[in-house]
Amino acid sequence: MDQIDKWITQQAKQPSAPSGSRKSLSRQEEDRLERQRLRAMRRQSERADETKRQQWQAHRRKLAQLPPDEIAQQVDNRCQYCDNLLVPTVTQQEVVGFVRPVIIWPDYCGCERGKMAINRAKRNKQIDRDKIQRDLYQAHLKKAGLVGWLADATFDTFTDRHDWDGAAECKARVSRYIDMLFLGKRERKNWLILHGNFGTGKSHLAAAIIHEAIDRNWREVYFRVWPEYLKRLQMTWDKNKIDGETEADVIRELQQGLIVVIDDLDKSQATEWTKSTLYSALNHRYNAEKPVILTFNYGPGDAAPKAPGRLALEDYLGRAVLDRVLEVSYDVIEFGGSSSRSGGKWNVK
Ligand SMILES: [Zn+2]
Repeated sequence: MDQIDKWITQQAKQPSAPSGSRKSLSRQEEDRLERQRLRAMRRQSERADETKRQQWQAHRRKLAQLPPDEIAQQVDNRCQYCDNLLVPTVTQQEVVGFVRPVIIWPDYCGCERGKMAINRAKRNKQIDRDKIQRDLYQAHLKKAGLVGWLADATFDTFTDRHDWDGAAECKARVSRYIDMLFLGKRERKNWLILHGNFGTGKSHLAAAIIHEAIDRNWREVYFRVWPEYLKRLQMTWDKNKIDGETEADVIRELQQGLIVVIDDLDKSQATEWTKSTLYSALNHRYNAEKPVILTFNYGPGDAAPKAPGRLALEDYLGRAVLDRVLEVSYDVIEFGGSSSRSGGKWNVK
């Protein structure tokens, strides 16, 4: 409409409004006449607008008949980057049922400066978009608990860091588990046990599973380090805290999460409270047939160090929970040993 306005102001001669003295009339009559006068003015101005519009269209149609160079001369549109004269193209287009020539103006004259400015604008838009994507991704990682070194504990980075005998086999078995979760038919036995010494990469591969889930747009997925999780739960009991999460929020994560890793399960001191907290989370997931990945230092077959005849993990899980865990485990993978200590007894697959 800019051009219309420009053109209109060039041609405009404002009609003068009718006026007169009506001081002697009554107030009511005065109002009535005033309204009448306004209506007349509005009608007049509408008629004037319509005339201008028709004149403008006739002018455009006449313009469109001219060669583009001459249109350019007459309209004097300038490139915003270099002030060169813009040359339009004229095409035939159907406009409300009539085929008419339509003048199309370019954004710039084709100059180097214009090209650069437009490319720069495009690039900046892309950078903004990429940054939003990256920020969103970081937010997902953070919510899932993949912070610090866990933020890049992916499947791809595993073998770079862990190259002991058998590391590749562990990776392959976790990979098979991932395929079962994301690609194939989901199985009832969808839990995973990773056990072995500190530093052998079980947390890394457990985190890689959560990474994989996030990459596939799974949102409610959590990597929770058990001792830290318990501390978080205890913090929600603080009567003096002003805001923050509630105990129900924290419990909900382990119960409702689509995929959940509970890391270092046997690292904190086991009490009746920790056992019942763990039991209620695992029982919930067992009933809902939701996957959970558990990491331990002790293997399921390892005897308790001070109580031969009892399994070490019984102290943390209780015998009944341990049995249930093994019942629905897709695989039990030992890290850091090239030979299988348990002689395959606990290796479900
Ligand atoms: Zn230019």
